[in-house]
Amino acid sequence: MRNIVKNFLVFFLVFLVIAGFLSAFSDPWEKVEEVGFAEVVSLIKEGEIKSIDVEGSDLYLVYTDDSKKMSRKEEGESLAGLLAFYGVTDEQIQVIDIESKKPSGSQAWISALAPFLIPLLFIGFFIWFMMRQVQGANNRAMMFGNSTAKEEKPPKEGEKKKQTTFNDVAGSIEAKRELEEVVEFLRLPQKFQKLGARIPKGVLLVGPPGTGKTLLAKAVSGEAKVPFFHMSGSEFVEMFVGVGASRVRDLFKRAKKSAPAIVFIDELDAVGRKRGSGLGGSHDEREQTLNQILVEMDGFDSGTNVIIIAATNRPDVLDPALLRPGRFDRRVTIDLPDIAERESILKLHAIGKPLADDVNLRRIAERTPGFSGADLYNLLNEAAILTARKNENQVCQESIAVSIEKVMLGPERRSHVLSEKEKKITAYHEAGHALLAHILPDADPVHKVSIISRGRVGGYTLSLPSEDRQFHSRKEFIADLSVLLAGHAVEQKIFGDVTTGASSDLRRATNLARKMVTEYGMSEKLGARTFGDKEELIFLGKEFGEQRDYGEKYAQLIDEEISLLLSEAIERAKEILHENMEKLERIVCVLLEKETIEKNEFEELMA
Ligand code: ADP
Ligand code: MG
Ligand code: ZN
Repeated sequence: MRNIVKNFLVFFLVFLVIAGFLSAFSDPWEKVEEVGFAEVVSLIKEGEIKSIDVEGSDLYLVYTDDSKKMSRKEEGESLAGLLAFYGVTDEQIQVIDIESKKPSGSQAWISALAPFLIPLLFIGFFIWFMMRQVQGANNRAMMFGNSTAKEEKPPKEGEKKKQTTFNDVAGSIEAKRELEEVVEFLRLPQKFQKLGARIPKGVLLVGPPGTGKTLLAKAVSGEAKVPFFHMSGSEFVEMFVGVGASRVRDLFKRAKKSAPAIVFIDELDAVGRKRGSGLGGSHDEREQTLNQILVEMDGFDSGTNVIIIAATNRPDVLDPALLRPGRFDRRVTIDLPDIAERESILKLHAIGKPLADDVNLRRIAERTPGFSGADLYNLLNEAAILTARKNENQVCQESIAVSIEKVMLGPERRSHVLSEKEKKITAYHEAGHALLAHILPDADPVHKVSIISRGRVGGYTLSLPSEDRQFHSRKEFIADLSVLLAGHAVEQKIFGDVTTGASSDLRRATNLARKMVTEYGMSEKLGARTFGDKEELIFLGKEFGEQRDYGEKYAQLIDEEISLLLSEAIERAKEILHENMEKLERIVCVLLEKETIEKNEFEELMA
């Protein structure tokens, strides 16, 4: 609507400008005074006329003093005849330069038609203009179906271009090996076909967020030296049903045309979720898009040299049809980096950042279990920013260590001042966690205790495993429960009251106890089985409830077991606290004074 108004305004302006031009350049004779024919006759008789131009019935007079006037004669009569009739003598006529012009036909026509034609032309132009606009919109609607994939062509000979290669990816050895094979397939297909090997159609990269899936795919594009089509799953899905499917068609058509080629679909779960379970309106569109992907993948024959790489961090929600052999038949799992990989990722990202001599990246890697590649990148970046803010020119170990906590827990809130009472409660609470973590042999050793609030927590105790672990044992969980509940126990013991500060500890402990009973089979009474079938709200990606696959009797037993685990844990915590009051006071004392205790200092304090 706004468009139409705008067009109309433009149109109106153009009209004004043209009208202005017309009036400016119109016939100069038009402004000349008109005189009667009788006067012309008398003027000629007096010899005041120099020349007359005759054009049809119009007479253009030029006086001897060069001034101009015009007049008219009767239609059809000749000027000479008329003048003779009015008694002008031949001599009088001869001094006048009479020139007769035929009225030009076209001019007459134009002057006759212009009043009709000009508005007509304008209306025509206007209609044409509007049509073009509408058509443009139509064309754009048609373009919807074209894929928006970005194509990266391999660099030409001699062309220098910064490209991501496998060297930019640290760790993930297996993933790299698998993908290197894919690259080789594309470069030398004969080598494999000679032996009757079928080229894989799809490779699915699976792993938690930030582990470098997108990075790896980019590295493949850099290494393969073939066209690389990059598209994110969400880009397929538009408001209109059918658009996604047509984009898929278009994408594969483009890829096949420039084969050998790689198609990379990032965040595949955006389109590839299980069909038939969608809540909300968009699942029709998504299902059609997914169907089209399946159809296209089946459509390749073994000769087509197009490989599809897809990435997702939710393989559990993918439609089973995607995962069956012949489609994404290769799955590459990328895990969170282990300690050696973390060190090499840190080394890679430390390039270009001047490090002080005291920096020991191995120590940093030890302190960052559970960090993804993206977290580690972020960590070094934070450290560099911190260094710049301190106006130093080398990143030191201290800055990196401080940044670890910032990345894990959010920035320190030093401005958040605790009252004397709150500070004391926090100190006892954290000292309780730390003491338990120190004393229980199955708990993770303490790395740091602090009562400086950070993000949403009032204080924190950082206890980290001494090595990376894939599995956790029942004993460890039991110890963890006691550590978690120690804060609550201390508050009760020292102040005879509890605060809200312990509520997140309680929730974590309860969840852990529930999982031990219902998922890990760690309860003797209930035995080795799981309880409850977790279901997911597919389109929100959240667990929204569980299907009970057990009866009332078990429900009660589960509750009893959870309560038992928790009460045993808190009893143990109380016992240990009771026996070690003196150590607890020591920790609290230092905490109140210094606010943070690092690992070494803590161990000295406990010795
Ligand atoms: P994902 O796609 O798996 O969520 P990305 O590929 O986007 O993760 O990784 C984000 C960033 O993390 C990368 O740009 C890179 O800087 C860093 N990163 C992650 N894994 C690695 C790795 N193995 N080696 C080097 N850098 C990594
Ligand atoms: Mg990604
Ligand atoms: Zn706590």
